[in-house]
Amino acid sequence: EKALVWFRRDLRDHDHAALAAALANAESVHCAFIFDTDILAALPDKRDRRVHFIRESLVELDCALRARGGGLIVRHGLPAELIPALAQELGANAVYANRDYEPAAKQRDAAITDSLAAQGRELILLKDQAIFERDELLTQAGRPYTVFTPYRNAWLKRLTPADHAEFRCTNHFAPAHDNPVPTLPDLGFASTDLDELGIVPGMSGARGLWDDFRAGRIKRYGALRDFPAVKGVSYLSVHLRFGTISIRELVTAALAAEADTWLNELIWRDFYFMILDRFPHAAGRAFKPEYDAIRWDDWPAGLAAWQQGRTGYPLVDAAMRQLNHSGWMHNRLRMVVASFLTKDLGIDWRQGEKYFADQLNDFDLSANNGGWQWAASSGCDAQPYFRIFNPVSQSEKFDPEGKFIRRYVPELSKVPDKYIHAPWTMGRLEQEALGVVIGRDYPGPIVDHAAARAKTLARYAVVKKGS
Ligand code: FAD
Repeated sequence: EKALVWFRRDLRDHDHAALAAALANAESVHCAFIFDTDILAALPDKRDRRVHFIRESLVELDCALRARGGGLIVRHGLPAELIPALAQELGANAVYANRDYEPAAKQRDAAITDSLAAQGRELILLKDQAIFERDELLTQAGRPYTVFTPYRNAWLKRLTPADHAEFRCTNHFAPAHDNPVPTLPDLGFASTDLDELGIVPGMSGARGLWDDFRAGRIKRYGALRDFPAVKGVSYLSVHLRFGTISIRELVTAALAAEADTWLNELIWRDFYFMILDRFPHAAGRAFKPEYDAIRWDDWPAGLAAWQQGRTGYPLVDAAMRQLNHSGWMHNRLRMVVASFLTKDLGIDWRQGEKYFADQLNDFDLSANNGGWQWAASSGCDAQPYFRIFNPVSQSEKFDPEGKFIRRYVPELSKVPDKYIHAPWTMGRLEQEALGVVIGRDYPGPIVDHAAARAKTLARYAVVKKGS
């Protein structure tokens, strides 16, 4: 019996459901990764940190597999053609992969299941990314949960050690052909600033961050997680996205450390996978259909100011500049800027979702769509529409001394703490004395928050009328 393991967003050689199952069932196991030409062609910037991250992670994975007698076959093309062709070439009876919940991935996997079946082979999909998936957790009425708290309670109640036990991967790999991982130029891409940013791809990068987080911060996460100037969170999202670390290992450690607040975040991740899987219409449309009646403003200059961090609201601008600089943004700030785009600028959440999808290293359709629809109030368990973040009070609360703002908006570095959150309230003479004139050195506020708030309440009134 021969098997082919198709790696996708699970770039590690341990605690891997598909790999463990293939190794348990077959005498000889091949491993492959396909750079999907459709996905790569859609990326607007050929200096894409995600492609760079994947490429480096593959080099490490290939090395790890070779050390165990195997190796990775890496191809570039359309998986719908290449996977059946490869299975045939290798004589594999079955292809093993870990389940993906995105609509496009599900379609692709269904097509490949059919092509393999026509050859008398099987695509075996396993649960790996999530602790619970699909309809494993249902309400008493037998429906998927759409509210987080009861979902979390059901998740915790059902959890047994077997649900987060490691998938042990034994060793009987088939040696790989001598087929090195393509370079970035081979793929039509260029190298990025991952190194300068200190982002280390692969299992070793994940291990470094994880060891650092679990050694201390995991215990203080609840107290520190909302302050973007503080090193409080794990920074593991890009690794969870590409599977260079296993969710089961993280859950096991979070339970042992009684790190409930952090575990909650990992449960949110499962929740949004399940929501996208069960309610695929949310990709593109409002989860709650009545919110599709909202008329958004078409305001390209407002969108550009938001994207570039020039709205005149220092916390929003610092956050957007953090994203543009590094491909990562703190969770509190993702909520603040998403609320600002939709409820202060009146711009469609899909435009923000798209910008995040292009920029975020950890971009994940499920969490990104969930986060945006939460902020726009159209989501499953969303912020009510009349709750509108005040960007100045958020700034006072979560960056009280303006440390984060000063890091990313250096033109405000000399502004005193009492004005840092709303620099336009400084007197003209004071501005001149500091050499920070609002409107010259830093923009004035692009909208008046109180007026924008009133406009938003009126905009959302169609939802109330419709429901
Ligand atoms: P930690 O705080 O250390 O959390 C640990 C892990 O839990 C994260 O790595 C992530 O995998 C998961 N997690 C945390 N919060 C959430 C959440 N709200 N929803 C789902 N999973 C969560 N996260 C993404 O991974 N990809 C995205 O594209 C994404 N887009 C977002 C868009 C918006 C508008 C908002 C409000 C949130 C978004 N998030 C997204 C969730 C969250 O902001 C990031 O996961 C987090 O900031 C990553 O940093 P970290 O790894 O240090 O997280």
